[in-house]
Amino acid sequence: MQLRPLVSIISPFYNEGLGVLKFKEAITNVLNSLPEYDFEIICIDDGSTDNTLSNLIAVAHHDHRFRIIELSRNFGKEAAMTAGIDEAKGNCIIPIDADLQDPPALIGKMLLAWQQGYEVVLAKRIDRSTDSFAKRKTAQLFYRLHNVVSNLQIPEDVGDFRLMDRVVVDALKKLPERQRFMKGLFTWVGFKSVTVDYVRNARSTGTTKFSGWRLWNFAIEGITSFSLVPLKVWTYIGLFGSVFAIFYATFIIIRTWIFGIDLPGYASLLVVMLFFGSLQLMSLGIIGEYIGRIYFESKQRPIYLIKKQYQLKK
Ligand code: UDP
Ligand code: MG
Repeated sequence: MQLRPLVSIISPFYNEGLGVLKFKEAITNVLNSLPEYDFEIICIDDGSTDNTLSNLIAVAHHDHRFRIIELSRNFGKEAAMTAGIDEAKGNCIIPIDADLQDPPALIGKMLLAWQQGYEVVLAKRIDRSTDSFAKRKTAQLFYRLHNVVSNLQIPEDVGDFRLMDRVVVDALKKLPERQRFMKGLFTWVGFKSVTVDYVRNARSTGTTKFSGWRLWNFAIEGITSFSLVPLKVWTYIGLFGSVFAIFYATFIIIRTWIFGIDLPGYASLLVVMLFFGSLQLMSLGIIGEYIGRIYFESKQRPIYLIKKQYQLKK
């Protein structure tokens, strides 16, 4: 008998209790229609506080293809995905959101492209109308900004939903950083890729776990992970400021020579002081962002901790 390739589906769950059954239905329907592959579905419970874990365990109880990894607390989506990627044994892996915003029906198409020799198959959202206007716009702004300040070009409208061959996964596992901006890391490793289009669904149940503040921090993480431009730009702002200061000083000195000491000027002095003072604070803050990240990296703490795994024996 010819050995079928093993495909690992990786799905992080954080308080998705209501969606577990829908996810299971949707995934098994698709997998059953692809008999030429073997599947393992790795569900990571990222420290949920609702009934996500018990629902997942119940699913795994009936289907040996499901493997449940329970993390010791909430580590965030990036860490949860890393746990899944580390545990996956497949010849290729596919991370997919638990809320069915990434349509499982696309998996067949992705596998076809993989069979044609592509090592990465990117799923590109051609229609994001189910995401709010603000989210679409800020996401677009982020990708544009990121791609301007960084050498790494992250493709726009491509999320974590993608297929990666084993060679890509092994490359990914060599990246040791603790702060994992996965979209960036996925892109950083390279390899031959192709894009398939899809329309982004609305969430099956529940609400998004990424609030505005969390997204903002995620964006800062993305930019600081792959670009030094925010650090370097201060050299030029400083240079510009000092050239301006030299001209202004010359002007003042000459004016004092000609017209004598001039006491007024308090307002302009204050404005200049405040302006440069706040620039300095801002640049310090940005340096702080990077130092903070160096600090966390240097601790070398594990990215996630697994509490327990559940899988039915075959
Ligand atoms: N998620 C996670 N840990 C977290 C936050 C989110 O594992 O701390 C999972 C969540 O359960 C979902 C996926 O990451 O499967 C995407 O999250 P969400 O749908 O809230 O993000 P959005 O689609 O709104 O960007
Ligand atoms: Mg979602």
